[in-house]
Amino acid sequence: MTDLLARATALDAADPLAAFRERFVPAPVVSYLDGNSLGRPLEATARLMDDFIRGQWGDRLIQGWTDGWLEWPLTLGDRLGAVALGAAAGQTVVADSTTVLLYKLARAAVDARPGRRKVVLDTDNFPTDRYVLEGIAAERGLSLHWIETDPATGVHPGQVAAAVDEDTALVLFSHVAYRSGWLADVPEINRIAHEAGALTLWDLCHSAGSVPVELDAWGVDLAVGCSYKYLNGGPGAPAFGYLRQALQAELRQPIQGWMGHRAAFEMGPGYEAAPGIRALLSGTPPILAMVPMHANLDMLAEAGIEAVRAKSLLLTDYVLDLADAWLVPLGVEVVSPRDPARRGGHVTLRRAGFEELLAPLWASGVIPDYRRPDGLRIGPAPLSTSFTEVHQGLAILRDLAEKQR
Ligand SMILES: *Cc1c(COP(=O)(O)O)cnc(C)c1O
Repeated sequence: MTDLLARATALDAADPLAAFRERFVPAPVVSYLDGNSLGRPLEATARLMDDFIRGQWGDRLIQGWTDGWLEWPLTLGDRLGAVALGAAAGQTVVADSTTVLLYKLARAAVDARPGRRKVVLDTDNFPTDRYVLEGIAAERGLSLHWIETDPATGVHPGQVAAAVDEDTALVLFSHVAYRSGWLADVPEINRIAHEAGALTLWDLCHSAGSVPVELDAWGVDLAVGCSYKYLNGGPGAPAFGYLRQALQAELRQPIQGWMGHRAAFEMGPGYEAAPGIRALLSGTPPILAMVPMHANLDMLAEAGIEAVRAKSLLLTDYVLDLADAWLVPLGVEVVSPRDPARRGGHVTLRRAGFEELLAPLWASGVIPDYRRPDGLRIGPAPLSTSFTEVHQGLAILRDLAEKQR
């Protein structure tokens, strides 16, 4: 027990990213373990928001649009692509929500493969992904081929190989599974899908800002993700969408708004898509909600995504060790990959009755994430979480679980 605490202290002392934790707005909690659901705000974000409201919005008023706001969806997209996604410029936009961008991209993809009637996806993907594709299938007369994934792991290339064929228009998976944290083999699954002539769409909500992504190198066709989890963008922060350069002339998204028009301010008669990635936009971009992203991308660029991933693996290794020492003997099951090569940024623990522990955990200042029916997700965001904080949080969980027994 004491050596587990000594290890946390030693890991914190050796942590090259430790100082970043001081840059966040102080939280009145003992242990915040829900960075995979809502990242914490930076002090710099609070300043930027105030500067934006008083300076840019308050002073420049409507001129702000021509001062640069109109370019933010693209310039922030390029920066995000460079800092976190392995995407060269001109392929990423910041816009909408994940759900809406997912609809736009998936519709564009299936419409670009006419004659192919099948979409391959998995039963354990995030609900919005499943629901959006159900809607598109109904709209376009497509059939959904569901791969049954084990909720403790995730999608395997062999399952994809068995599911795709010459009738498959699109495959859709999450890079990191929201439940188990399983890290999918993106390049291999892309290779298999492409061999069958299908397009690939990846949901990066649980990887952006946590796990290095190489969209260009991995041959990803389309991707979406949110900016409020490991990217600390704030509740309801806009999403991002990626569309590979080579597909931009071919794919057409269905929400033809004026901001995706070739010449928005000519207010002309018919819709003509803008060249390049701008055609992914629809209406007025959520500029106010994009302000935090400037601070967050500066921080991520400074820290480096590889260093973030290295700390993330040490954090989840440590979570696994604490779970094995303290929780598994109490009947808790680890339902996340132990292999670091297949593990994303969080660890899920399962035990009947976890739901009853939520209120006492919160009352004790420990904030994990809960997923029905009995899963507790431990998501220590690398830039804002210390090893000691993880130790404190899981020690309180252990004591409560012991009492419950
Ligand atoms: C968080 C999350 C979403 C959220 O979609 P919203 O439109 O932002 O509500 C979608 N997909 C995955 C995999 C997620 O983890």
